[in-house]
Amino acid sequence: MTLVRSNQQWIDGVATEGIRTIGDPLLKAHAAAVDDPATVAGLLDFMVQRLRNLKGTGLAAPQVGASVRVLVIEVRKTDVFPDRPTHPLLQMINPIITNRSGVQVDGWEGCFSVPGLMGQVPRDDRITVRFLTSAGESVEDSFTGNVARVVQHEIDHLDGTVFLQRMATLDSVTTVANYLTHHRTNRS
Ligand code: ZN
Repeated sequence: MTLVRSNQQWIDGVATEGIRTIGDPLLKAHAAAVDDPATVAGLLDFMVQRLRNLKGTGLAAPQVGASVRVLVIEVRKTDVFPDRPTHPLLQMINPIITNRSGVQVDGWEGCFSVPGLMGQVPRDDRITVRFLTSAGESVEDSFTGNVARVVQHEIDHLDGTVFLQRMATLDSVTTVANYLTHHRTNRS
């Protein structure tokens, strides 16, 4: 199994070039719906490239300075998250959660907009999402487990919310470095 090396700047708590960080008003804003998917084709391509060169799992458009309802997700195994299931590239325009399991599970999250920190966040373990694909096709799809968590995290960004605001308590907040030393379990 090849593990992707997580972004060292993120681990070290250093803001990554071109990524908005907490405190930036754009991350608090309600992002605008996209009227014509063709207008965000270039943005999606840019975000996929950025996600891959950051070695990230997900990016929402406000994080790269575009206050529109667009997100990209691609789950790979990394040294920080060596055990999570992979998921192929998802590109979503105007995503809406249409159903939630109502069963919340705690899991560790980090975010390029909150460099250097992680925490345990309760999320629904299964959601159904309606969205437009990059080709402008309307689809409804269900997601379970870790990728459902990532989708919820990214959709939150479109509504001006970061994972810290979703934590039931701040007790688990840790630096990524301390997460790796003290909290990561099931190392493979
Ligand atoms: Zn994030």
